[in-house]
Amino acid sequence: MAESDKKTKKSKEERAKAFCSNAFAHNAFFLFNKATEIVKDYGSSTQMKQILDQMLHSILFLGNIHFSRYLPHYIFADVEMFHQTSEDFPGPFTHYQTHVALRTPFSYFLELVTICYGHDENDKEVESTLSEILHDCRKSGDQYPLISTVICICESGGSRYYGASLSCEGDQEREIMTAVSCVHVWHLKVSSAVMSVFPEDTGEPRSIKLPDTVKCRAYAVADMRKLKPPCKRCNQLYSLPDHTNHSNPPGNCAETEAISNFFNAENHGNSRQTLFRHNHQEEMQRMSKCFDNNMEKRMERRSVRNRDKYSINKVYNS
Ligand SMILES: [Zn+2]
Repeated sequence: MAESDKKTKKSKEERAKAFCSNAFAHNAFFLFNKATEIVKDYGSSTQMKQILDQMLHSILFLGNIHFSRYLPHYIFADVEMFHQTSEDFPGPFTHYQTHVALRTPFSYFLELVTICYGHDENDKEVESTLSEILHDCRKSGDQYPLISTVICICESGGSRYYGASLSCEGDQEREIMTAVSCVHVWHLKVSSAVMSVFPEDTGEPRSIKLPDTVKCRAYAVADMRKLKPPCKRCNQLYSLPDHTNHSNPPGNCAETEAISNFFNAENHGNSRQTLFRHNHQEEMQRMSKCFDNNMEKRMERRSVRNRDKYSINKVYNS
């Protein structure tokens, strides 16, 4: 009896697929499942476990503030998997309604993939893992919820720094994640450039210039053989040449994260402490206001009892 049960038992992935016909929930589950498999293969460490933990929290946070509100038991629709995941990673389940995610799930995923496979000279393993993800994820309209379709590599000497586009489905999520990234995540130079045109595009843009030795290349994950030229906004903010005439929202492009990672690594020191020490109060307030306005819009359709209170200063650090 037990034997026949085993034979008919579907794999974790098959069970989740059967439950989730929705693109957000499907991609959320799929991305997290793929990440746990990669960590299992590579060998778990405290750093890896922490990335998984923060990635899961980011998934649950974005699911919770989503227009359609996807709660954890919907994303992990299989009861057994729900229990196992919440046992392995209790933090995200207890904090997704009170703490803000610092980065998008895909940003954590890309970090994981580059730690595990980024040593290869020509990025083949990174490329094939990302293509595989895109292939198995679902679309909602013309977007892949939670999946970045563009990545950027910032190359300096022998080092490579990766970045992904923000991959937010709605404008409100994008603005929320941009404000959080400016305050807590991106290098001060990058935050400062983005904040000069975000959220209002009225002032004089503060441009930064990369050293001549640094090369920035972006690719669409669907076709990694072809370079994707920077948009007009990236030219304006990061002085990247050969740009298109299209302007993406500030901070949205993969270039932002890649350049920020480059500065964070090459400059050493903790850039966040610098931001707070320099006391950019006015800018902090602008970001906080932008965050609150967008969050309010996200919550207004809910009954008062179901409105979660988030603050840009209460972020999740596992
Ligand atoms: Zn751009």
